[in-house]
Amino acid sequence: MLGLGYGVEMSSLPDRVDVVIIGAGTAGAAAAYQLARRGMSALCLDRRPLDGAGAHWVNSVAENLFEAADIPLPQGDEIVGGNRPFYLFAGWGPRRIELDSYGAPELDMRKLVARLQGLAAGVGATLVGGVRVDAVDDQHVHTAAGSVRSRWVVDASGLAGLRLLEPPKVSARDLCSASQSTFRLADEVAARAFWAQHDASFGDNLCFAGVAGGYSILNVHVHGDEVGILTGTIPGEGNPSGTALLRSFADRHEWIGEEIHTGSRAIPVRRPFDRLTDGRVIAIGDAASQVFPAHGSGIGAGMIAARKLADALADGRGAHAFAADWMRTEGGKFAAYDVFRRFTQRMGEAELGTLLRTGLMDQITAKAAKLQVAPDFPPEVLPAKLRGLVQARGLGARVVGTIAKMELAKALYRRYPEDPAKLPAWSRAAGLLFGDAPDVTGPMPRRSRVSPQRAPGERPAMHT
Ligand SMILES: Cc1cc2nc3c(=O)[nH]c(=O)nc-3n(C[C@H](O)[C@H](O)[C@H](O)COP(=O)(O)OP(=O)(O)OC[C@H]3O[C@@H](n4cnc5c(N)ncnc54)[C@H](O)[C@@H]3O)c2cc1C
Repeated sequence: MLGLGYGVEMSSLPDRVDVVIIGAGTAGAAAAYQLARRGMSALCLDRRPLDGAGAHWVNSVAENLFEAADIPLPQGDEIVGGNRPFYLFAGWGPRRIELDSYGAPELDMRKLVARLQGLAAGVGATLVGGVRVDAVDDQHVHTAAGSVRSRWVVDASGLAGLRLLEPPKVSARDLCSASQSTFRLADEVAARAFWAQHDASFGDNLCFAGVAGGYSILNVHVHGDEVGILTGTIPGEGNPSGTALLRSFADRHEWIGEEIHTGSRAIPVRRPFDRLTDGRVIAIGDAASQVFPAHGSGIGAGMIAARKLADALADGRGAHAFAADWMRTEGGKFAAYDVFRRFTQRMGEAELGTLLRTGLMDQITAKAAKLQVAPDFPPEVLPAKLRGLVQARGLGARVVGTIAKMELAKALYRRYPEDPAKLPAWSRAAGLLFGDAPDVTGPMPRRSRVSPQRAPGERPAMHT
């Protein structure tokens, strides 16, 4: 037997399919679903068992992103945090922003990944776990279990995956160290006192920002008899890791009991990689740095990319049409929020407090960030915003500069080239805007289709 397929024992991989998807996490499983439901033969492979693929912690994913990705909304025990009110604090408080409802429940990712895999299998995709893809050449995808010929290859193998499109190395300053744990609630009375101390109803989502350097957060909520804690930090700025922040908080509060499960990983929070496709290879999800930079959220972005990719391939528009569509419609928003992320990353707790005190950050901006959309300020709030800019003095001037740069980023991404030959010039402009080296300097070298895990030309060991 080869490994565990979705609900079936697989004895061998198919010889030929329309598309091989590498990775059965949220992006890969969503791509398998969207491609198969449009009539393409899809094979989705994961090096881990299918029930261990992708994210396996609790994530908040906004409902509007499911709608945009054309994935049914989560229901039942997939939802572990409901839609509790959310409080964003500057440091450990007391200054804060309060959101009563915002349409972004906390989800058990293992259940979402399983649901997406089930949806894919239900429309005819083949999913196989325990099979690592070692190399990709012009026609085949090679694994130790055999080689498969395919028209298209989707790299949904995550940040630490195959890197088939040779993306640039992500700078340590653009890597968020995220950690999530669920604990038993050990002492409800003491926990209630903690929430009362922060003037919030017991169990609501409390999000403490800037507690371990710029961009850091610690988010805690209670669901039933469980405590969920999520942390994110930028160790590349000299700050502690997300795991260290989570552990020190859990150690300081005796109402947090035994740990039930935990997960941690680095998330790229820079703008999406400039190159999303090369010939028949397409990257989506964390493999393409399609992560909402303001809070390191990649689930919705990867699922939306899966839908757009399936539309482009099924309509015969091709891979680059997908790249241009995603970058023009989604990429500019991600790039703009990356500008904002870089701004807040250099900010201390006191400056964050000033943004809240002057109303420059408010319910409108907090809700927009949650839903991963641009904030929409009604005209009546604009005078107060202008007053806030003046009151914030030097910080206000930096806010104005940041907003101008965000608008430039959106304009640049609306001009993402439809002709791949123009990508190096566009990438140079993106590099200039962000003060980075351009991601793309010329055409992909041919060897790039072979993963670094195998020397070029070397044949994979065949399964017997
Ligand atoms: C603690 C934490 C909290 C987070 N919170 C949120 C949140 O609240 N909201 C949100 O939207 N996002 C959140 N994120 C980010 C989110 O989890 C990721 O953006 C998302 O999981 C990326 O999905 P993906 O499918 O692109 O990649 P992955 O989840 O990394 O999946 C890639 C898959 O590819 C497989 N693979 C790799 N290499 C190979 C190979 N050679 N052959 C075969 N298979 C391979 C891997 O085994 C893996 O299963 C969080 C991340 C962390 C760590």
